[in-house]
Amino acid sequence: MRQKEISMSAKFPALFVPHGAPTLIIDDCPTRSFLMGLGKEIGRPKGIVCISAHWTTAEPRVTMNPQPSTIYDFGGFPDELYSLKYPAPGSPVLAKQVQTLLQKRGMTCDSDMARGYDHGAWVPLMLIYPDAEIPVIQLSVQPHLSVQHHLDMGKALQPLRDEGVLILASGSATHNLRDFFGRRLDDPILPYAQEFAEWLKSAVQEGRTDELLDYVNRGPHASLNHPTPEHFLPLFVALGSGGKGRILHDAYTYGILSMAAFSWE
Ligand code: ZN
Repeated sequence: MRQKEISMSAKFPALFVPHGAPTLIIDDCPTRSFLMGLGKEIGRPKGIVCISAHWTTAEPRVTMNPQPSTIYDFGGFPDELYSLKYPAPGSPVLAKQVQTLLQKRGMTCDSDMARGYDHGAWVPLMLIYPDAEIPVIQLSVQPHLSVQHHLDMGKALQPLRDEGVLILASGSATHNLRDFFGRRLDDPILPYAQEFAEWLKSAVQEGRTDELLDYVNRGPHASLNHPTPEHFLPLFVALGSGGKGRILHDAYTYGILSMAAFSWE
């Protein structure tokens, strides 16, 4: 019991994980296996702040709902996905902590009493912590604001990690939906996606933060890989919360989505 208490208050890493297409939850692929083993590898946090690409707002916002529902924010996928539920409780206390931390850095942070979990949150969470017992809140991204703004949100969240809270950023290292549709799960990798993912992996591992912040100009084929920024911005929140970057997982699906996952410890 004592040991459990100690591990629950240990410092947690910040993670960036892919949520893929929502079918990741049922597709038998290496990334699904990786996520299913991740909870055991990092242990159980006392709470999770999830920054999902699928919640975009004008200003930062947190979920304040104590019992969030599961949102099916996608269309045209197999029926079985629409009956899955992730019943983890919310945490108004953790949400208020996040608000206070952001406000201390001069940012506004509104709250949303009604919102549930979008699939950017529940797809990876269902694989990482299937028992759905750890409280989760979501923090939105602001695609019209700068990369630096998202790094600053991560800096603000850093103290939470010392309190045993997991920062879980969920997006995609590459994300060109125009080229995604019509492709198969194990199609060959498109070179432009691979070049960007390779650049990203080395920049994260070598801590080249200035280069990452300027990814639009310095990442190979950046605008092709991220025609819109929302799937990449969560990475900067995790990065901003500090520590040494490490590659946790490296794979592709549909030949177009890099499923690279990272931790900052
Ligand atoms: Zn997505």
